[in-house]
Amino acid sequence: MLLSDKFGRPITDLRISITDRCNYKCIYCRTGNEGALYGDLPFSDYFRMARIFASLGIKKIRITGGEPLLRKGVVDFVAEVAKLRNAGGEPLDIAITTNGHLLSDMAQPLKDAGLRRVTVSMDAVDPDRFARITRVSNGFDNVLAGIRASRRVGLWPVKVNCVLMRGFNEDQIIPFGMFARDEGVVVRFIEFMPLEEDRVWAPETVVTLDEILRRMSEYRPLIEIPHQRSETARRYRFDDGVGEIGIIAPVSHPFCGHCSRIRVTADGKIRTRLCSVWDHDLHELMLRGASDEELVAFIRSVVARKEERHHIGEPDFVPASRTMVHIGG
Ligand code: SAM
Repeated sequence: MLLSDKFGRPITDLRISITDRCNYKCIYCRTGNEGALYGDLPFSDYFRMARIFASLGIKKIRITGGEPLLRKGVVDFVAEVAKLRNAGGEPLDIAITTNGHLLSDMAQPLKDAGLRRVTVSMDAVDPDRFARITRVSNGFDNVLAGIRASRRVGLWPVKVNCVLMRGFNEDQIIPFGMFARDEGVVVRFIEFMPLEEDRVWAPETVVTLDEILRRMSEYRPLIEIPHQRSETARRYRFDDGVGEIGIIAPVSHPFCGHCSRIRVTADGKIRTRLCSVWDHDLHELMLRGASDEELVAFIRSVVARKEERHHIGEPDFVPASRTMVHIGG
């Protein structure tokens, strides 16, 4: 039987964090003072988890972090995961989310290893603004080179994620629309969520889907592209057919009802939601010598308890027990 939760949502999308170290200090994510808080595991342990999840119907595996490209051995790990087959005997759809800093030299080896697509985080197309947000002075050129290398080697689609935070980068909306068209990438704006180390989130800091659409339409009209309900992003193309953008709006337009995701943190804990206040120790069970069957039973029992929805912005909202960099976005 394939994985589903008690609300009947099929779980088909696994995100595995392979480290919570990061070489960027993005203001909406990290304080800049904290380093990694949790250890990471040998790749063989992540691989065992991936294999078991695949046998339960997972179709997509996204490798994330922290910054996943900081981990030596990531290319070999992709090659191993690419050999897995899902419950229907098909290869998995393997993707990586990265800040792109090290991507230009790794795009080809990753593609050769079996990576299909890549998502690069980039929160400004203006280099100075980029440096202010990431708190890394020489990053912009590296990230742009990484995006271009990914396009060149045929990782497709290349998605560029931009978290908008009021007062920092909402003026980058139209420049990102131009960037999507010029570079042939899908730019996806993400509403800022209360998952940052600094705890600076407030409803007013969120640049919402409606505002993004309003601003972008001043540049060119947008036409909505029908999307699958389990997709996080609402998708739009420009009226002349050149360029696509997406908007991920978990705050103003929550999509929990169709969530198909489950996460494993770098230290081997299952998280049923980004905003969960607890996690479930899969790795501890492995250390105690659990068989595959016991791990399957544990995974099923955890997935069944996936929460119905988040409570961001509501009076009873309790902040997540981990921040994004320590979960794996
Ligand atoms: N280091 C990689 C990267 O930069 O893409 C992967 C990890 S990063 C935590 C994953 C994604 O989470 C990025 O796209 C990042 O922009 C997003 N993110 C981090 N903090 C966020 C927040 N508070 N709200 C919304 N998205 C956030």
